[in-house]
Amino acid sequence: MTGGDRNVKNSYDLVVKNGNVVLSGEVMRLDIGVLEGKIAAIGENLTITSDSNVIDAEGQYVLPGMIDMHVHFNEPTMGHWEGFRSGSAALAAGGCTTYADMPLNGNPPTVNEAALKLKAEAACGNSAIDYVLWGGLVPGNLDDLETLAAAGVTGFKAFLSNPGGEGEGRFREVDNNTLYQGMKTIASLGGILALHAESEDITAALSADAERDGRNTAGDFAACRPPEAELEAVARALLYSERTGCRLHFVHISTAAAIEMIHSAKLRGLDVSAETCPHYLILNETHMENLGPVAKCAPPLRSEEEREKLWKVLSEGKIDLVASDHSPCPTELKLKEDLSFFEAWGGISGAQSSLELMFHEGVAVRGLPVTLISKLLAELPAKRFGMQDRKGSIAVGLDADLVLLDPNRSYKLDAEDLLYRHKHSPYIGLTLSCKVTATICRGNIVYTAEDGVIIGDGGQWLRINEGQLIR
Ligand SMILES: [Zn+2]
Repeated sequence: MTGGDRNVKNSYDLVVKNGNVVLSGEVMRLDIGVLEGKIAAIGENLTITSDSNVIDAEGQYVLPGMIDMHVHFNEPTMGHWEGFRSGSAALAAGGCTTYADMPLNGNPPTVNEAALKLKAEAACGNSAIDYVLWGGLVPGNLDDLETLAAAGVTGFKAFLSNPGGEGEGRFREVDNNTLYQGMKTIASLGGILALHAESEDITAALSADAERDGRNTAGDFAACRPPEAELEAVARALLYSERTGCRLHFVHISTAAAIEMIHSAKLRGLDVSAETCPHYLILNETHMENLGPVAKCAPPLRSEEEREKLWKVLSEGKIDLVASDHSPCPTELKLKEDLSFFEAWGGISGAQSSLELMFHEGVAVRGLPVTLISKLLAELPAKRFGMQDRKGSIAVGLDADLVLLDPNRSYKLDAEDLLYRHKHSPYIGLTLSCKVTATICRGNIVYTAEDGVIIGDGGQWLRINEGQLIR
């Protein structure tokens, strides 16, 4: 893979020179030659011809573009919350080259083929980077799973707890039988279920008690969604996975105990994986109390002790991937006066900062290897969701999806830096030790710190079936 210009033509469309290239298990100072959107060569002193575009990455890391498996861009219909253009631009500026859009909170939610078509139309030509699309599993759509799978959804997302939202057509949580039947069907289709694992019985009852007693602070919200609600839901879903053979991915796990349960299940042979989010690794319940609803999410931010435990299981390799769960909303749904913490929209806007946050806290502060952070953000998500032949690593033949990160370019994150439709985030004001300086998707420079984001022809929708990219 490395070592000179061999096996290649004598000219590249683009050469990324002198970077500290983050390979699967090591970092090496190398050049990367890009031809027709693919990585054509990795080596020392690659030949540069007059028609090659050159980026000098001296002093910077060159990582595989981040793959964010969990964002909510809300189109169709709800593009005033976040849209493919603004959301994907934010991701590109944060070093992401492929993302997965969730089947909510657009309207209609992506729970049948007609809705998937509307979603794909909204995305087409508007995304700065490549993407995949999740379908949904909800009560009443078992008969739609097969057509959704055939149309190329990545897999199916379901909620065990009420996802919020309003109206007839809203995305609804599954009852146990829908979960059980759905997992049987998804297993027969060779698909995968992504699950929001919190017990509806526990969270609904505690929330009703709190409402009755007039308890409505951030701390009260967290108390209504205790770790046990997550653990019970994870245990139940693992049982269903074991009995149905359905591949299972747990989204936004917030506790180390749940990670351990999922890891043990993996060791006894279940095809399961666990995701966590930067906000559980960077923030704690004190941030939630101090920052207010801008730091509200479900499951909620946990204690400082829990945050430390999550870093421990992450460093032990027990977490499969880190995704943003970017779940934006108009600012007034977070910050309107008289809005209680319970009434405010639950969802954190953070997608633009994932890589910088993980590098800052993981590598600069905690001294973890940059290869581990890169694995969690790119290589493992690509493998888990069948994209590894094109995405997730820096290797000859793969898509030239690259991100340059300057480890010494410290900056304070301001609201104006954010490209979201609504510029609120719990990370505003944070001083980060590093900055993404360029993002390249299939050989196209889609972002530079100097020139901002270029959407161009738009990213591609990567269709997946039976756990593999459809050619
Ligand atoms: Zn989500």
